[in-house]
Amino acid sequence: MPTNRRHLILGTAAIAAATCMPRVAAAQTATGPFRLDPLPYPTNVFEPYIDARTMEIHHNFHHQAYVNNLNAAVKDYPAVAAMPLEEILAKLGDVPEAIRTAVRNNAGGHANHTMFWQVMGPGGGAPAGDLQAAILRDIGGLDTMQGRFNDAGLRLFGSGWALVTVTRDGTLAIETRPNQDTPLMEGKRVLFANDVWEHAYYLNYQNRRADYLKAWWNTVNWNKLAERYAAAKAGTLDI
Ligand code: MN
Repeated sequence: MPTNRRHLILGTAAIAAATCMPRVAAAQTATGPFRLDPLPYPTNVFEPYIDARTMEIHHNFHHQAYVNNLNAAVKDYPAVAAMPLEEILAKLGDVPEAIRTAVRNNAGGHANHTMFWQVMGPGGGAPAGDLQAAILRDIGGLDTMQGRFNDAGLRLFGSGWALVTVTRDGTLAIETRPNQDTPLMEGKRVLFANDVWEHAYYLNYQNRRADYLKAWWNTVNWNKLAERYAAAKAGTLDI
């Protein structure tokens, strides 16, 4: 390629990159097998329930840090680095002890947040069809589920996740996990979860976790949850 043409393309790419810079620049990306996907929607899409600044910091720094730390942990362990994320989590006991805690925390954090961005989305909707029937059968309906889920998130001491797990036969259950643990570590599947680490809500809600838990339901993408429910029953839900 002639030099001037190459410079033109590089120049265009640089301008495009500069124009697309988010208000908070992404943290430095470590090299490695794991990567952070961009958010599938604008960061301000959930206002006023979740503010854009919280979304930017949460995705570009907190989630990126889990990815970077996971890549750093597996750097000298090619057998672990080559495994899919859900398989690493299901087989933590096989991960070399020297990196097991780092992998548990950061692979867990990467998986939890990857799921979290997916189950949220603009457009909202409502549970329908098979999923609506399962919520009624297993948990007592949408209102009951929201109340019990919020209570579980509120009672969780410290940092962690409120979750709804789904079995291969489609049974739902409300659970919690501390820190960045995930039911994937037991080979289970998560239909959806809410992040109750303070970094998920502190800028807007400070100590009012209960208000955040209530507001978060406005960000749930029920069409995506229906897809995930069908995938769980088909055995194709990974994260
Ligand atoms: Mn988080």
